[in-house]
Amino acid sequence: MDCPQLPKVSAYHDRALPEHEQSSFAQHCESCAQCRLELARLERLSAFLSSAPLDDRRPRMAFSAQLQQKRMLQFAQFFTAAAAIVFLGCGIALLRMSNDSSTTTQARSWERLAITQQIDAAPAPDEEDILVQALFREDR
Ligand SMILES: [Zn+2]
Repeated sequence: MDCPQLPKVSAYHDRALPEHEQSSFAQHCESCAQCRLELARLERLSAFLSSAPLDDRRPRMAFSAQLQQKRMLQFAQFFTAAAAIVFLGCGIALLRMSNDSSTTTQARSWERLAITQQIDAAPAPDEEDILVQALFREDR
């Protein structure tokens, strides 16, 4: 059966118990083999962890992976910037277009020209056309 004081070993080891409990637990450990063994195990683990070099405690990323990650970030930054420029350009163009159409009530010069050109471009039937039409009519 486990010692009822066993859950306190870790707190005692970390000196997290209140002062009076800290000293009474030390006395308990003198008579309890189970708590003494657990305390020894924690001390060994703590010594092992503090002896390990700092760099070995966290997983190291391979240099090539770091490089790849850096390139991906640069790529993402580039495309974000490009998207922002396109978005801004489109916004400015739309703003200009809406400003143009709201301020001018009259048709623009190119619009007027397009309409008049269409009317002017329609050729009046000349004598040759009339003759051709007459010839085809006679064939039937
Ligand atoms: Zn105990």
